[in-house]
Amino acid sequence: MLARSLAVAALMAAGVLFQPVAWSAATLPLSEVEEADLLFMREEEKLARDVYLTLYEKWELATFSNIASSEQMHMNALLKLLKKYDLPDPAAGNDIGEFTDADLQALYATLVASGMVGPQEALMVGGLIEEKDMVDIQAAIDRSDHADIDLVYASLLCGSRNHLRGFAQALLAQFGVTYTLQWPESDSAQIDAILTGPMEKCGRNATPAMTPPASDNDCKGKCLGWSK
Ligand code: ZN
Ligand code: ZN
Repeated sequence: MLARSLAVAALMAAGVLFQPVAWSAATLPLSEVEEADLLFMREEEKLARDVYLTLYEKWELATFSNIASSEQMHMNALLKLLKKYDLPDPAAGNDIGEFTDADLQALYATLVASGMVGPQEALMVGGLIEEKDMVDIQAAIDRSDHADIDLVYASLLCGSRNHLRGFAQALLAQFGVTYTLQWPESDSAQIDAILTGPMEKCGRNATPAMTPPASDNDCKGKCLGWSK
């Protein structure tokens, strides 16, 4: 104990301690649920990418290849967080269509089967994935207490809103079909607001194009993620 106190005193004298950066929120350990969410989101972004790559190969609609590369960026952002918090990558070594999470594995098979029916069905599958992503990301934001993680989730959420708009626009332009909500947990007013809203700039320099309702001002830095 004495040795430890002496060591601390020596560090303090050397000015090593009390550097503000050493105690930023980012260094706080993750809770179990925050860890589980990060691992799941990494694979859920992979689910989106893999389904879109597979459906692009089948139907050659540019929407799928464009959005697949955006999903790759979402996967990269999550991998960075996994490394930062020293968590194992559940996607490591997995090929396209291979998942560590059994539910995502099953979902992949179902979604690809629906998307193989026809190009219109494939675009609807894209919309469904984005709706589910938004519900899951928002839930993860609500459970997270780490600003660095919330920031990445907010940018994923912004991306998903644009992707949903992209799929809806392709459906309308190519098949004259108006997109309608599919995921049971989606909030229909929110989906309507997204579909009628303009494409947003996401990522580092994002400005929240969708202002949260006035009653929801106190969203503790999470407004960017479009809290409810
Ligand atoms: Zn995504
Ligand atoms: Zn997406």
